[in-house]
Amino acid sequence: MFFQPRPPAVDKASSKLIPSLAYARARTAVKYSIFSLARNALSYHERWPRVWRSPEPRREYEVVIVGGGGHGLAAAYYLAKNHGITDVAVIEKGWLGGGNTGRNTTIVRSNYYLDPNAHFYEHSLKLWEGLSADLNFNVMYSPRGVINLAHSYADLDAYARRGNAMRLNGIDAELLTREEVAARVPLLDCSPAARYPIMGGLLQPRGGVARHDAVAWGYARGADARGVDIIQQCEVTGLQRDGNRITAVETTRGTIRAKKFGLAVAGHSGHVAAMAGFRLPIETHVLQALVSEPLKPVLDTVVTSGAVHFYISQSDKGELVMGGDIDGYNSYGQRSNLPAIEHSVQSMIALFPSFSRVRMMRTWGGVMDMSMDGSPIIGKSPLDNLYLDCGWCYGGFKATPASGWCFAHTIANDAPHALNAAFTLDRYALGKTIDEKGGGPYPWVH
Ligand SMILES: Cc1cc2nc3c(=O)[nH]c(=O)nc-3n(C[C@H](O)[C@H](O)[C@H](O)COP(=O)(O)OP(=O)(O)OC[C@H]3O[C@@H](n4cnc5c(N)ncnc54)[C@H](O)[C@@H]3O)c2cc1C
Repeated sequence: MFFQPRPPAVDKASSKLIPSLAYARARTAVKYSIFSLARNALSYHERWPRVWRSPEPRREYEVVIVGGGGHGLAAAYYLAKNHGITDVAVIEKGWLGGGNTGRNTTIVRSNYYLDPNAHFYEHSLKLWEGLSADLNFNVMYSPRGVINLAHSYADLDAYARRGNAMRLNGIDAELLTREEVAARVPLLDCSPAARYPIMGGLLQPRGGVARHDAVAWGYARGADARGVDIIQQCEVTGLQRDGNRITAVETTRGTIRAKKFGLAVAGHSGHVAAMAGFRLPIETHVLQALVSEPLKPVLDTVVTSGAVHFYISQSDKGELVMGGDIDGYNSYGQRSNLPAIEHSVQSMIALFPSFSRVRMMRTWGGVMDMSMDGSPIIGKSPLDNLYLDCGWCYGGFKATPASGWCFAHTIANDAPHALNAAFTLDRYALGKTIDEKGGGPYPWVH
């Protein structure tokens, strides 16, 4: 049995019976194990319980988080787990992980040069390493290595500098020669005649991939088990404000009050912040990806090329998963287009000529919250009880565990964790940007 029956609780604010709260307090998630697998095999796997509830929203919570992607769900999970705050609702306009969380190419890494990024993403990678066990849900983290290809001596110099910085920060990094790259990626064209000559590469062995949907589902399950209400098909359409505080969110399923509010809506950050009455230094751009038909195992690492603007890996299902740069113009259209597909396929064939006969199967797009320095904003907003988690650009999937960890800390303590102390909104006004690429205030170059 999934829920243990208990008497329904009473919401003091509305004096209505709220069965969901009773369930929340009573719920014990089934532990996934070899024994539960064997037990359920006896009933032909037809009696597995639901992984999380779908409660009716209550009228009031202690914390409301807008956005049921990985970041919002992870924040709810760590609010409950690390800070004992379980009176939380995650409000999602569609379905869990239907935003960028379920649209990304699943690369996780912490190969950053600047200290704030390096420490933050390394914390994330450490959480990835134990996440399946922590959540009792297989997120399929696969440390198969991430290689950044060097196509020139300048690339090699830059990678040597980045690798050294990573090592000084205690992060694994190896500078590879061309021969070492060729040995690790046999199908890569490392010949002198290659369109983009390979001079070597920077490897992070602990980098790799994880299953994106499973991350959303695992955090949802863990948060739900601790009493968090996860409300899907519920769009936030307005924010009610009293002076410098938000008092409630207006949603398609009614008004919900709370003491604190967190925004984790990725590409819709600017849109939702406008409801609160302020502008964010964020632009929304589409990032696209595509997958090939499934192949037998041909690529057992992640290969990226900054110069070619291309990256590729092979999923556990056998599909080649690839993508390139963001679209250069602003858009909220979550779809792909032919120029981006052409660019990715051209790049793939230039680097891996033997993939030229592979057929592409599916393409899609997601809306990215591109910040002005390419680094995220996790912290306080101009309003007293509204907190921001945004500016993830094209790299927020790998950040999911640390983002949730730090966002929960910030909401619970009304002050940032040491790991997100630098990622403030006011760093742009103070001239303390964290510009990993040195690209300047142009979101489309980060
Ligand atoms: C093609 C592609 C490839 C990528 N590849 C990688 C990669 O390899 N590695 C990596 O680290 N990152 C990658 N990313 C980036 C990464 O996916 C995102 O940064 C990350 O998933 C953001 O998570 P999130 O929870 O903040 O956002 P989302 O998953 O987008 O969640 C935000 C949620 O908010 C909801 N929402 C929005 N407005 C409202 C509203 N008004 N009311 C209620 N709910 C609302 C949305 O429906 C959405 O579900 C990629 C992204 C794309 C699109």
